[in-house]
Amino acid sequence: MKEQYPSYKIKDLLKLTDYGKIVNLKGWVRSKRGNKQLAFIAMNDGSVIHNIQVVAELEKFDEETIKLISTGACLSVNGSLVESPGQGQQVEIQAINIEVYGTADAAIYPLQKKGHTLEFLREIAHLRPRTNTFSAVFRIRHAMSFAIHKFFNDRGFFYLHTPLITGSDAEGAGALFQVTTLDMEKPPRKEDGSIDYAQDFFGKRTSLTVSGQLEGELGAMALGLIYTFGPTFRAENSYTPRHLAEFWMIEPEMAFYDITDNMNLAEDMLKYLITYALEHCIDDLEFLQKMYDNELISRLNFVLANPFERLAYTEAVEILMASGKKFEYPVGWGTDLQSEHERYLVENHFKKPVILTDYPKEIKAFYMKQNPDGKTVRAMDVLFPKIGEIIGGSQREEKYDLLLNRIREMGISEKEMEWYLDTRKFGTAPHSGFGLGFERLMLFITGMANIRDVIPFPRTPQNAEF
Ligand code: ATP
Ligand code: MN
Repeated sequence: MKEQYPSYKIKDLLKLTDYGKIVNLKGWVRSKRGNKQLAFIAMNDGSVIHNIQVVAELEKFDEETIKLISTGACLSVNGSLVESPGQGQQVEIQAINIEVYGTADAAIYPLQKKGHTLEFLREIAHLRPRTNTFSAVFRIRHAMSFAIHKFFNDRGFFYLHTPLITGSDAEGAGALFQVTTLDMEKPPRKEDGSIDYAQDFFGKRTSLTVSGQLEGELGAMALGLIYTFGPTFRAENSYTPRHLAEFWMIEPEMAFYDITDNMNLAEDMLKYLITYALEHCIDDLEFLQKMYDNELISRLNFVLANPFERLAYTEAVEILMASGKKFEYPVGWGTDLQSEHERYLVENHFKKPVILTDYPKEIKAFYMKQNPDGKTVRAMDVLFPKIGEIIGGSQREEKYDLLLNRIREMGISEKEMEWYLDTRKFGTAPHSGFGLGFERLMLFITGMANIRDVIPFPRTPQNAEF
């Protein structure tokens, strides 16, 4: 029955000016209103935040079809492009015929009404991508993923795939999720009663990775410049708006970079990604700004305009102690900084992003380069407004003896780490790297307040729906 007309995404349709052209579009109904003669159907296909208005003259359509068109229904529409008399849009579609692909019963469709809370939408994660908010966030998420690959590719980095299942638990970055095929009800046991992991799938105890860094270093020692970009898993029982049990991390690792090169790369990358978002996602950013955070775009521009403040942990602690502010967690030299301290430095004291370096070795990982003072290591954390830590990194200890000492001091199994120690035994090189939490970046770029709202299907304690 239907003729074939060229199909367009709404993003492109909205830019057309050849009025009279007959086009096809497919998408979902965002709303329908009307009068006795006309139905006005706002449609969205996910290609852009804006809807296109489809106008149907009721006398040209059977009543049944028009009745099936309600919020959430999926349609294929043929119609002619006309100049819109309404404000705020150039074009609309005068419908010629409408095929209803799928209805959405208004009595039970959960998104029938607008204005649901983010908390409610989290409970219907299977439908929330259909809202303006989440489609905007997920388009930006795509753009940021793409920009990350572009940033590194343009600079000669190689994308290295590190394993998600790991047999090493030495990274120490967080609690592990175990991976096993053993019968949890009746695991095989050794004579001493302990579980016999030799009979497990991999012949040893394994878990999901908390970081690809150690394997990334192996790549950097051959390819020079590498980055990873993949999921990481931490079984941390932290119900904060900044922690997920499954999150994505970007981990570049660079041979011949010292800590300053490392900081420069981190700052360049963050500024590149912010610029990319402003250049490619402005419609979505403006929508999020209007809905959630009226300082969003000025904050993004502000971070671009200023060099990040760089200072040592010791100086930061002095500033915090002299601040006179009562923190929930007291500060003193040697304590790990909490989000409240990081945010004080960024938002109240320096009023711009901060890179802290040279942390006490006791609160940092074994692989960080030891400073001559014997007390601190060449760590660097990048702290952002509203977020706190967005990047954690360091120059790595490249000296075999110093690294081995630290491994022993920290009670890490030397045998388990043999493969890693080999990088320092054979052709060792000064090198550095860092980890950017992708969802922390997304929080900053979108202005969303909760990390559960910047990943399609969040995994948090007590929550792994479908
Ligand atoms: P935090 O102190 O904020 O828990 P961390 O010091 O444990 O973070 P790192 O091990 O340094 O984190 O990981 C590198 C980056 O990964 C962090 O800077 C952060 O952006 C991100 N990240 C760490 N843990 C999580 C998590 N549970 N959910 C989301 N992102 C995370
Ligand atoms: Mn960290």
